[in-house]
Amino acid sequence: MKAPGEKINSFEVARKQIDIAGEHLNLAHGLLEKLKHTKRELIVHFPVKMDDGTVQVFTGYRVQHDVSRGPAKGGIRYHPDVDLDEVRALAMWMTWKSAVVNIPFGGAKGGVQCNPKQMSLCEIENLTRRFTWEISSMLGPEQDIPAPDVYTNPQVMAWIMDTYSILKGYSVPGVVTGKPIELGGSLGRLEATGRGVVITAVEALRHLEKSMEGIRVAIQGCGNVGGVAAEQFQRLGAKVIALSCSSNAIYSEKGLDVKRVLDRKARYGCFVCETQEEREITNQELLELDCDILVPAAIENQITEENAPRIKARIIVEGANGPTTPEADEILNDKGIFIVPDILANAGGVTVSYFEWVQNLQELIWSEEEVLERLTRIMQRSFKEVLEISLSKKIPMRTAALVLGIGRVAEATRLRGIYP
Ligand code: GLU
Repeated sequence: MKAPGEKINSFEVARKQIDIAGEHLNLAHGLLEKLKHTKRELIVHFPVKMDDGTVQVFTGYRVQHDVSRGPAKGGIRYHPDVDLDEVRALAMWMTWKSAVVNIPFGGAKGGVQCNPKQMSLCEIENLTRRFTWEISSMLGPEQDIPAPDVYTNPQVMAWIMDTYSILKGYSVPGVVTGKPIELGGSLGRLEATGRGVVITAVEALRHLEKSMEGIRVAIQGCGNVGGVAAEQFQRLGAKVIALSCSSNAIYSEKGLDVKRVLDRKARYGCFVCETQEEREITNQELLELDCDILVPAAIENQITEENAPRIKARIIVEGANGPTTPEADEILNDKGIFIVPDILANAGGVTVSYFEWVQNLQELIWSEEEVLERLTRIMQRSFKEVLEISLSKKIPMRTAALVLGIGRVAEATRLRGIYP
């Protein structure tokens, strides 16, 4: 067991997951070994002009894990804890995720070690443009397509697209997804990950013969994933009993008024209680609440062997990437908790990224209804495919999703063969 506070290495977690799934896949040994490695990694150290006239050096990463099914795809995050192993793990999860929903992409991820909360808009723009320039040889609509991730957004994507286009000498909208609509972004992309989370939650409830009405949901994270999911859950009749941000969490047994609570969070920077029923709690308390659905929608390694024994949710729908460690998985599985794993639950984002890329390449604009309808169909189909593997092989949903994703990538690799 890890000592309290000891950092969990996400790349080790991701590799362990390959071993677990590998037991059900019957693949040639060399193939599994290949998939445990990333294809290409770039580490850059680059200077950025700060507002006070000083120059600060930042470290950034772009990692492509696998491109056998299509161009590398995955977000860029700005966070103080970003390191190479985290980016490697996130790139690997992108490969499986794209394969689970069967879209023709490989997996990549990028990140810059920085604290965007302490930087001005101008400093974030300078950092983004220089980082884009540094990694530009890896990027391109046919090669590697970034998107938003933790603490990056459509504006950051616009700067990436602009910088890359200046380098090329013409506009290349297809080099990033999650752009502002005005620059070729897809309608429905901003909400896609949160919507996908709720679509898979609906499927999980259907499978367990439960209805959404009155279901108590606790959500860790209130950004692009958690915030959107909270609104969608409420719209479908669920009670969102808790929501958190990086500093605190808010709880109400009667259910929160999601929009009101999020507006207040935007105003004050953290959750502030307003009514008699509302109570401030910690992120840890949120994870351990007695609820029907728990949605970890923040960062990795939140549910570990340490707190897993105290998790009371009946269903976990993973909005974040890698929120649960393999050791925690075993404990949750023994408790009979139904888990919709990250590479399925949060795949709505990359799915609509795919739609955005297709629209850019074809110079088409789809309506929001069309995007939503296609997203729903892909998420429902993927859930069904994973569930079928889980039931037929009698394995947990995470292992089933990995079997589906890794199996598809392995087959593409086998068909292409090893050169020379
Ligand atoms: N960052 C998101 C994820 O982890 C989206 C990636 C994408 O759209 O390329 O799935």
